[in-house]
Amino acid sequence: MTEQLNPFKMAQAQLDKAAKKLNLDPQMHAFLREPMRELWVSIPVRMDDGTTKIFRGFRVQYNDARGPTKGGIRFHPEETVDTVRALSAWMTWKCATVNIPYGGSKGGIICNTKEMSQGEIERLARGYIDQIWRFIGPEKDIPAPDVYTNPQIMAWMMDEYSKIMGYNVPAVITGKPIPLGGSLGRGDATAMGVVYTIREAAKIVGIDLKGATVAIQGYGNAGYNLSRLLAKRGCKVIAVCDSKGGILNDEGLDYEAVKEHKNKTRSVIGFPGAKQITGEELLTLKCDFVIPAALENQITGRNADNIKAKVVAEAANGPVTLEADEILSKKGVFQVPDFLCNAGGVTVSYFEWVQNIYGYYWTEEEVYEKLDKKMTKAFYDVYEMAKRESVDNRTAAYMVAVDRVAEAVRLRGWV
Ligand code: NAD
Repeated sequence: MTEQLNPFKMAQAQLDKAAKKLNLDPQMHAFLREPMRELWVSIPVRMDDGTTKIFRGFRVQYNDARGPTKGGIRFHPEETVDTVRALSAWMTWKCATVNIPYGGSKGGIICNTKEMSQGEIERLARGYIDQIWRFIGPEKDIPAPDVYTNPQIMAWMMDEYSKIMGYNVPAVITGKPIPLGGSLGRGDATAMGVVYTIREAAKIVGIDLKGATVAIQGYGNAGYNLSRLLAKRGCKVIAVCDSKGGILNDEGLDYEAVKEHKNKTRSVIGFPGAKQITGEELLTLKCDFVIPAALENQITGRNADNIKAKVVAEAANGPVTLEADEILSKKGVFQVPDFLCNAGGVTVSYFEWVQNIYGYYWTEEEVYEKLDKKMTKAFYDVYEMAKRESVDNRTAAYMVAVDRVAEAVRLRGWV
């Protein structure tokens, strides 16, 4: 059980399950079970009080057979290298599932930005690039925002990298602000991708999106944008939560008012007219869709049997453990696995990189049209595989992805 909650062990166990189904060559399997490269860094940062604090950070490049590696940077007080490893593996499978020409990577810094000033965060962001710049680049490894990082932090990082190189390199990082080469549609990309997969899952399960009830765990970038986009499609978002707790209103929540309340009080809890619930209660509410959009390991062997939703759409990375997968599958819950469900962000990141290299920018409509095509194709690649091989959707997504990565490794002659 403890083993299973180590996210990297979980990612390896998920791969093992798919490798068995694919009859993967044992040497290929051994190669794909571990990251190809890891960098551990110490970042000295001058704090506002004049002291110097040393932060630990990681950058893990899992596999680059299909192209330069791609993956976000997280600022989190409980960051561990195993979380970063797992996320880098998931990025590899995610990019392969949506068929974009990237490998996978991830970065993380152990820090609590809630206790830091903007100046300290900027110096930390620049310090991280000073440590990893040899390791990244538009043709090598392209970072992006993730938990507790944002476009401003990406702007500082891109600027630091450009200063070191001596020329402007917008394509080194995605998720930048629009005036610095960010793509239109990037802000909503992850949530929009989740919405496209939910739309297709609803058709298969037989749910009418108009009036469908939704509970969302997490009210950050992914969670808030999802509430807004789903409400616009007629869904009723009845519950949301953040790290402090959750709120429920069976009639549906006003997403904008909840956001204003969170901005003012730093939490969704205490929102007028809603019942207070725990994050745990939110996951087990009776509703059509439960969307984990916070952290990993949220639906586990402990609570999976209590899930009452028809569809679990995994906007977060690694929110459902392997043990929980089996329970959900037996219960007939339709799962949209993380690296399919939340691939909208990396897909528009890819579009951003293409536009930066091209020096030619698309309209928001063009971005969403291309995103919809990519996500819908990936959804049915996975769904068809699941039907054909009689496996759950996560195993099917792994089978699609691992097959594509293994083919690239084989063609390169590595294994
Ligand atoms: P964010 O930092 O904007 O928001 C995270 C939210 O989760 C916050 O509301 C926070 O309060 C909440 N949270 C933290 N711990 C919690 C807990 N224990 N219980 C309930 N809520 C908790 O992050 P984000 O960008 O929205 O990312 C959320 C998830 O989506 C992560 O797993 C991330 O890897 C994944 N994801 C994000 C993107 C993206 O483009 N933003 C892309 C792909 C995947």
